[in-house]
Amino acid sequence: MRGPFINEPTLDFSLPENAAAMQAALEDVKAQLGQRYPIVVGGERRETGQWISSINPGNLDQVVGEVAKAGRRDAEDAIAAAGAAYKEWRKISAVGRASVLFKMAGIIRQRKLELSAWMAFELDKAWDEAEGEVCEAIDMLEWNGREMLRLSGPAQLGNLRDEANMLFYQPLGIGVVIPPWNFPCAILTNMTMASVVTGNAVILKPASNTPVIGYKMFEIMEQAGVPAGVVNFLPGSGGEIGDFLVDHPKTRFIAFTGSKEIGIRIFERGAKVHPGQVWLKRVTAEMGGKDAIIVDSEADVDAAVEGIVASAFGFSGQKCSACSRAIVDAEVYDEIVDKVVQLARETVTVGPTLDGNANMGAVVDESQYQSILDYIEIGKAEGRLLLGGGRAEGNGYFIEPTIIADLAPEARIACEEIFGPVLAIVKARDFDHALEIVNDSEYGLTGSVYSRNRVKLERAREEFDVGNLYLNRKCTGAMMGVHPFGGFKMSGTNTKGGGPDYLMNFMEAKAVGEKLF
Ligand code: NAP
Repeated sequence: MRGPFINEPTLDFSLPENAAAMQAALEDVKAQLGQRYPIVVGGERRETGQWISSINPGNLDQVVGEVAKAGRRDAEDAIAAAGAAYKEWRKISAVGRASVLFKMAGIIRQRKLELSAWMAFELDKAWDEAEGEVCEAIDMLEWNGREMLRLSGPAQLGNLRDEANMLFYQPLGIGVVIPPWNFPCAILTNMTMASVVTGNAVILKPASNTPVIGYKMFEIMEQAGVPAGVVNFLPGSGGEIGDFLVDHPKTRFIAFTGSKEIGIRIFERGAKVHPGQVWLKRVTAEMGGKDAIIVDSEADVDAAVEGIVASAFGFSGQKCSACSRAIVDAEVYDEIVDKVVQLARETVTVGPTLDGNANMGAVVDESQYQSILDYIEIGKAEGRLLLGGGRAEGNGYFIEPTIIADLAPEARIACEEIFGPVLAIVKARDFDHALEIVNDSEYGLTGSVYSRNRVKLERAREEFDVGNLYLNRKCTGAMMGVHPFGGFKMSGTNTKGGGPDYLMNFMEAKAVGEKLF
């Protein structure tokens, strides 16, 4: 029904025609800023009298939009609407459900630059990062659609002469989907549509920093043929409706991506069985990281320097996979430190990314801004500040790309997730010591090793304890279907989005045996 999976190609904005097309998309979207958007429950659009205001973090005077804020009553209605829609949706064939995903991918393909422009305004996401994310959303749909087709046939089982036995997968029921703000198009689409393609019905609670792009994606789901009630769009406060939805006895599963703190909270609350609940909830939680790049004494130094700078400062360090610590062998330490600082100084330009000039935009909101600045102050006392170190100019939450070296492995800025443009550099005695340092972490999401020594690379393959390890390559930029994504330890439940196991998180297996004679 569909050919082999191929990643969606990204655009090269150094070509004048692509840059002009992006400018035009930004102009179009600019003319639509400031509008109001409803919540949607069972297909019904509602205003609630309360609004979540979405502001461009790179231009604090610019209101991107206002989205109605749901309360508990709406959440209760959304659970009921999902329950009603689930009864019919689960009966639609896998082919029918997968077709909706392929159609959605097609619509997004046609609106790629428009959706990128919405993220440019709502997150100050640089053009290439925003367009790359839209392509990733397409990949997720194309991947999950094909995966559903693959998994829809009965599984091969052993044989008994007088019985016919089969095993097949069925949906779980009503789910709650809780994405983060940093990939508000791709992760939101992936968790929601993986739930949908497997036959579930969900309540989608977008992150409060990015509800407008959330609404745009919801509209495309409707356009692609997701029936009313199968996805209910419910922006609202995590603490208020989030807890309510997670605790609800009719909730069968929670698909979460976000911070360690909230992931743990959801995991713990999801474990409690409430009156009327007749299942153990399934919680998938993809959480934070403190991702490290090891530079070995036998590394290609220039490749390592490029990998570190790209992974540390792309999207202002606000990727769960961002390199926030470089662990460098003492033999090449001084050279690497000098070159990383030099490359960051020469290539990272801070400012509003909308006009395509700056390549590192603002951080997402005031609380993140304050938290990152606080961490920088801590880091100044813990190590040697080599670049940046404070706020940058502009009417937004701009922070200088910051590099702090000579840190002890146990320094706070070398251990805690900062989620901003701050790179911590630690000196290792040798490769053994480097592996010891990277693994002495509560997190285990991504990591890289730069070395020309095959023995060391193979040791890292076995011993570097992360869900996504890269050898002689940067630690960001996972591609769906190529680098199935998800971490170990306190980085999450290892769902491996974009991999062959992902849809299993949204289904349960049923075995049926029939006596023949
Ligand atoms: P967050 O603060 O944990 O929020 C994530 C989502 O949880 C938001 O939709 C938030 O809603 C909601 N939420 C907050 N409190 C809740 C509650 N009590 N019950 C239910 N939901 C609740 O994380 P974030 O700041 O959006 O995202 C950044 C974090 O995500 C970083 O730690 C990053 O490493 C991680 N991340 C991990 C991955 C991965 O694949 N491992 C990918 C991307 C990001 P509100 O917005 O309304 O508070």
